[in-house]
Amino acid sequence: DEKILQIRNLKKHFVVGKGQVLQAVNDVSFHVNKGETFGLVGESGCGKSTIGRTILGLYDKTDGDVIYDGRNVHELTEKEKFSYYRNMQMIFQDPYASLNPRSTVKEVISEPMEVHGLYKDKRQQLNRVYQLLEEVGLNRDHANRYPHEFSGGQRQRIGIARALALDPDFIIADEPISALDVSVQAQVVNLLKEIQQEKGLTFLFIAHDLSMVKQISDRIGVMYLGNMMELTESAQLYEKPLHPYTQALLSAIPIPDPDIEESRERIILEGDLPSPINPPSGCVFRTRCPMAMEVCSLKNPTWQEVEQDHYVACHLYDENLEDTEKARNLAG
Ligand code: SF4
Ligand code: MG
Repeated sequence: DEKILQIRNLKKHFVVGKGQVLQAVNDVSFHVNKGETFGLVGESGCGKSTIGRTILGLYDKTDGDVIYDGRNVHELTEKEKFSYYRNMQMIFQDPYASLNPRSTVKEVISEPMEVHGLYKDKRQQLNRVYQLLEEVGLNRDHANRYPHEFSGGQRQRIGIARALALDPDFIIADEPISALDVSVQAQVVNLLKEIQQEKGLTFLFIAHDLSMVKQISDRIGVMYLGNMMELTESAQLYEKPLHPYTQALLSAIPIPDPDIEESRERIILEGDLPSPINPPSGCVFRTRCPMAMEVCSLKNPTWQEVEQDHYVACHLYDENLEDTEKARNLAG
């Protein structure tokens, strides 16, 4: 697999007040293979959108590296940035907010083409708009209408058409289905999968829960309070989640079969999400972790490959963790 995007020890901190530092992203590393969908999952405020924006170059980094196609994206020249932005597009959560209500669908979709001077011939550009509308399941009759005339699902299709306008290689989809009805969510996920196969696109798919991410992702990374907690292949994560936080997230997904649903144990996380301005010492999840041990408040767990391609940051998987402590806590 070719690693098209590499995030290495990325840190993004924001100074928010008198000497106060919001640690939005802390020492996060992962890569995305060319042609795959990487799902980045976590509650709001966990840093996943900040990672998306840092990859796009909308934010500078505090430390670490973002490497795309062999180039450090924070060291690109103006000219290189221009072509980078053509290759790297974004789809947003609320399609209506990201579409100008005074622009027609045609204008919304052709704007990126005009910014990048793709067509001298207006006729060609319009044909491309029609083609894009068809690719996302709309048609040319929609071109002269306004975004507010469409349903949420259709507006997201318009947003996708706009993201495809420059024929990108990589798309960051930041919660593209979170604002949609469940039935519409599946349609948009299917559309994204079709488009990916046709065009060989790579996706970074950002989501706040694990329910729809399985269908679209090849690999998944789970974040909590600015830190990566677990990362592995999609099937492996659902079958054998190792991190207590992932286990809790998975137990919150309803199962359609009532027999399984009834006999299943929900893991309820106690307490509130701590502030990223003043995160807990040691493991940032410890204030809500049902398995927390003494060592968890003292030491930040290391990011380790516990099984092949299965990474986790949790002291439960430390080789030399005192067996008694582990056993006591596992026994509950
Ligand atoms: Fe829970 Fe400790 Fe593991 Fe953190 S390191 S997830 S507190 S057991
Ligand atoms: Mg967000």
